[in-house]
Amino acid sequence: MICVLRLGHRKARDKRVTTHVALVARAFGADKVMLSGERDDAVVESIKKVSKKWGGRFSARYEKNWKKALRGFKGTTVHLTMYGLPLCDVVGKLRGQKNMMVIVGAEKVPREVYSLADFNVSVTSQPHSEVAALAVFLHEFFSGKELDKKFGGAEIILEPSAKGKKFARK
Ligand code: SAM
Repeated sequence: MICVLRLGHRKARDKRVTTHVALVARAFGADKVMLSGERDDAVVESIKKVSKKWGGRFSARYEKNWKKALRGFKGTTVHLTMYGLPLCDVVGKLRGQKNMMVIVGAEKVPREVYSLADFNVSVTSQPHSEVAALAVFLHEFFSGKELDKKFGGAEIILEPSAKGKKFARK
């Protein structure tokens, strides 16, 4: 079970990025996302709608107390931060973990996260985006196999096409 914890959501500023964090989590093989910071039911609902339409068992919920969730997590916790150890040096130790929480921030990540997480991992040592960091992390963690993941029970399925758009609605 791979859970993504998105810290510090700000309703007015982060709607789009937080939604993208959740969409990437789902598409790249995670099982659930917990959104913390300001409560934003609209984002949670939009993720649930996507999962219903596009299939799979991905779940999304608000988490008021991120510290409790992080402390109480039964598994390995990985905080993505440009200050961490390079992904390539750490990913081998992480592959095969059954239960993992992947933490991404928004603007400023509380200092405690760095000490509470089992691993602080960087995806390059340059500042960029939680969306990109999460995608690259999951891609490396799954060794690319997530690109072929099937999402059962979808209402809509795409047919890959060299040109144009093809899909079958169930
Ligand atoms: N300045 C912020 C801080 O002190 O944490 C970083 C803000 S950044 C826009 C938002 C999030 O993107 C970070 O909390 C981290 O999860 C992720 N991120 C950005 N660059 C990263 C990198 N090079 N490696 C891993 N994660 C990164």
